[in-house]
Amino acid sequence: ADLTVLDRVVTGCRACPRLVEWREATARTKRRAYLDWDYWARPIPGFGPPDAPLVLVGLAPAAHGANRTGRIFTGDPSGDLLYAALHRLGLANRALSVRHGDGLALHGVRITDPVRCAPPDNKPTTAERDTCRPWIAREFELLRPTVRSVVALGGFAWQAVLPALDAAGWSVPQPRPLFGHGAHVTLPARDGGPPLELYGCYHVSPRNTNTGRLSVPMLRELLRTAALAAGL
Ligand code: SF4
Repeated sequence: ADLTVLDRVVTGCRACPRLVEWREATARTKRRAYLDWDYWARPIPGFGPPDAPLVLVGLAPAAHGANRTGRIFTGDPSGDLLYAALHRLGLANRALSVRHGDGLALHGVRITDPVRCAPPDNKPTTAERDTCRPWIAREFELLRPTVRSVVALGGFAWQAVLPALDAAGWSVPQPRPLFGHGAHVTLPARDGGPPLELYGCYHVSPRNTNTGRLSVPMLRELLRTAALAAGL
């Protein structure tokens, strides 16, 4: 199977009863501003080319963001900031991501989540995180020929991606490296292939950007560093 197949197959997953219920309940009740939307209400696949050298890892879809639009980081303030930054760096053909199928294309970068369904309060349980791990682990296995650099957006992404990268064939140091903005660790490939550069970046959530914890220049600088490490 290739990534295109994986992206399709994941949308049928119903392994987490609480998240299946939540993603579908929010699609029924909707938010007033989106009453005319037919919510996606399914797992969100990764987005971006299947031969990307750079991968960004988030947390989980937002109930009225990606769970509505069907594309990762699309339809919420976090995504608006992220896609604008990618556009500024020449990694996206447009600054705005509106909905699944709107013509937006990424260059050399893929975005994915360790949990593919919208959780209540944006908080998946550890059991849900672990249940979803095979999807992102398989995604990284399929990306292995090209991926050189990964950015974990937030501590949850960092904690979730390390075991997924380990399962996909990279060696993770013990004790596990700690998350922080600008944290950087090189993971050697167990088969002697090219290593992977992993970077930590504060999540692009309004909670971080409104408080000044993460500024637009900080985000751009981190993404630029990771893109350069990926050869972009
Ligand atoms: Fe399946 Fe992951 Fe969604 Fe759970 S969170 S139902 S494992 S896609």
